Amino acid sequence: MNSDSTIEADDAKGALSSRDLREDIRRVIASARDSSFGSPDAWMRGHAPAFSARLAQSGFIGMTWPREYGGRGALNTERLVVTEELLRAGAPVAAHWMSDRQIGPAILRYGSPELQRRYLPAITEGRISFCLGMSETESGSDLAAVRTRAVHDGTVFRITGRKIWTSHAHRSTHAYVLARTGDGAQKHEGLTEFIVDLSLPGVSTRPILDLGGEHHFNETIFDDVQIDETDVIGEVGNGWEQVTDQLAFERGGLERVLSTYPVLSACLEPQNQSRPRFAELGGLLARLAALRSLAFEIAQSVDAGEAPKQAAAILKYLGTGFERDVVEHARFALAVAPDQGGSEVQRLLASGILAVPGATIRGGTTEVLLTIISKGTDGGDTVPDDLASMLDSALVDAQSAKDEQDQWNAITALGLPGIGSDEERGGSGGDFSDLVTVARKLGEHPLSVPVVASAIANRALTAAGRDIDPDRVRTVSLGSRLSVARAAGGIRVTGTLDRVPWSAAPPEVVVAAGMLDEDLVLLAIPLDSPNVQLRPGSNLAGEPRWAVVLDGSALEESAIIGKAQAVVVAQNEVVMLNAAALLGAMGKAIRLAVKHSRDREQFGRPIGAFQAVGHAIAAMYAAHTIARVALKRAVSGSAADPWNSLAAKILAADAATLVAKNAHQLLGAMGITQEHPLHASTLRIWAWRDEAIAEDEAAEWLGVEASRVGESRYWQWLTGERPSVAADPTIFDRDGRS
Ligand SMILES: Cc1cc2nc3c(=O)[nH]c(=O)nc-3n(C[C@H](O)[C@H](O)[C@H](O)COP(=O)(O)OP(=O)(O)OC[C@H]3O[C@@H](n4cnc5c(N)ncnc54)[C@H](O)[C@@H]3O)c2cc1C
Repeated sequence: MNSDSTIEADDAKGALSSRDLREDIRRVIASARDSSFGSPDAWMRGHAPAFSARLAQSGFIGMTWPREYGGRGALNTERLVVTEELLRAGAPVAAHWMSDRQIGPAILRYGSPELQRRYLPAITEGRISFCLGMSETESGSDLAAVRTRAVHDGTVFRITGRKIWTSHAHRSTHAYVLARTGDGAQKHEGLTEFIVDLSLPGVSTRPILDLGGEHHFNETIFDDVQIDETDVIGEVGNGWEQVTDQLAFERGGLERVLSTYPVLSACLEPQNQSRPRFAELGGLLARLAALRSLAFEIAQSVDAGEAPKQAAAILKYLGTGFERDVVEHARFALAVAPDQGGSEVQRLLASGILAVPGATIRGGTTEVLLTIISKGTDGGDTVPDDLASMLDSALVDAQSAKDEQDQWNAITALGLPGIGSDEERGGSGGDFSDLVTVARKLGEHPLSVPVVASAIANRALTAAGRDIDPDRVRTVSLGSRLSVARAAGGIRVTGTLDRVPWSAAPPEVVVAAGMLDEDLVLLAIPLDSPNVQLRPGSNLAGEPRWAVVLDGSALEESAIIGKAQAVVVAQNEVVMLNAAALLGAMGKAIRLAVKHSRDREQFGRPIGAFQAVGHAIAAMYAAHTIARVALKRAVSGSAADPWNSLAAKILAADAATLVAKNAHQLLGAMGITQEHPLHASTLRIWAWRDEAIAEDEAAEWLGVEASRVGESRYWQWLTGERPSVAADPTIFDRDGRS
């Protein structure tokens, strides 16, 4: 390999350093960058064989393939590092994208050793390029209906038919062709995959211009084209099975998310923001972070030898919706007229608008994806670990307790409020991710005890070196900053804490934030202190949420248990656990809706058999999946980084809102009765989405901060290179209002 890369192929899979890879691909991009870079949809439209050859020389094509074929034995997660940098740059990569993404992997998975030797090195060396011959005029979404025929004749196949929408067929050396070799009882039978050299006699292409006047589409005509019988991929007649695997590769990559990234990138630069819409921008940034994490989950599955069809369908469905929303956001935020002959920003917006309609069609339409997702849905949230299973049965038992006090006793007997707190200090041990599982499970089971609030308070106290009695109720409220002043023998605290989680057994301590001089401090305030008034209240789900009014309450200096960092960690935990509780509640609602769609019949069949119902379920499931991924990213990130926790909250609240809406619609009148259990989930969704921090406030915070630091720093956070930076990492009550 003649490489300008500093990376050499490693023997062991996964031995490449992501950081080195990233630096390496950035160097190649920087040295090649010209005016063909930076456009939306460049992975499909930007056909630059010279740049693809450059990437080939640097070992960036077929990098997951074995070294004997010119690959580097890299993981798919490592390949993703490279592709995301290319997509970020809007690099013209269409000349090799299809080969690298799906044809090579299909040949590796199903092709004969001879086929692998013939084609894989030619791809990694940039000598050949592929287009995709799947669609036909009468066969779009219904791909199995292809009519192109291949007849076995001695040692050759003779192919006759017409493929349409074949992107770059006029520039490619080879085509992947799905053709009919037999007539089975089902149309999915008798299909076979072929590799066709486009220079063979009988092949011709007819250009089709797209709506912007560009020529990338073609009709490709095969008129008795004779190909060697060894150019079959896999088994004759097994084409359908094989091509559906290939579609998982086709749909599960970041090009289904980042096609319009150059437009988003422009929106992140303050000089372009004519009419900033920070909350909308923040919502997009949160979605992008979660979509990226989902793409990495998919790549991990592929590395494990799977073809994650359903997850790939979710990524493409949500990713292309995201791409569209980016452009709609840019229309207003950039506030320029789209113009292909205008300024750079005008051209960018124009090409984004023109690219978007194709994104939700190519590679499987949104409607087809929703059908695929709905077929694999068994009902939302599952947390398959021991703790979750134990909680499921224990929480059902706790529900049958005679009153809230008894419920609390049952919960403390399990040690739940002490989870995530040091055992040496009276906690139950475990880590924050265990507490996340507890919060999710409590979200599924309708118990109104402030376990999570107590657990966060316990964590803050034990982290400050205090011992706790985990049977006592504690609570937390970080929504406003109290005023703290030094006074003789201690401190005085003034201010109001609103909507504090409460219980039948009153909490003994509330953990809150305060400002002492110019410093943010974490306080543990005993609620039997002087000048503390309590005002009862409740949320929409009927859970007690009281106000705590402090009027110059005199406390000991020891009430201060931490500084700003402790406040930031506690606030992030509050937000992540709120997102976890929402996930639990929506998982339960999805399960109820799925069950109902199977049990309830109308018009002589289960309502789930109607496509509209299946798609509504799929939308819920997809939203739940992306919220789950966002929370996972937040929990595995830095405890002091608010960007991830806010992103998790935004996606959880958005998903929960959609789930509550769709679940009620599917359950009909029955779902809005007291008798049906759905309201236990939906009332809490509507109450909890506003708690900790409402999603619009979280999104605005994120949008403002990301615009302040700009695209480059945002990207580093997105890719995990560097944590976020915030002018003030506290996310509640930033201007000191209570
Ligand atoms: C930019 C672009 C590049 C492309 N490149 C290639 C390429 O290189 N090679 C290639 O082979 N193909 C390519 N295609 C074709 C693409 O795969 C097809 O357009 C796609 O599969 C949809 O087929 P269709 O356009 O015939 O629409 P149809 O299948 O006719 O669908 C029309 C509408 O009906 C809906 N519909 C259809 N069936 C159902 C159903 N069962 N339930 C609900 N709704 C349904 C669809 O969702 C859609 O909204 C490309 C397309 C685009 C836009």
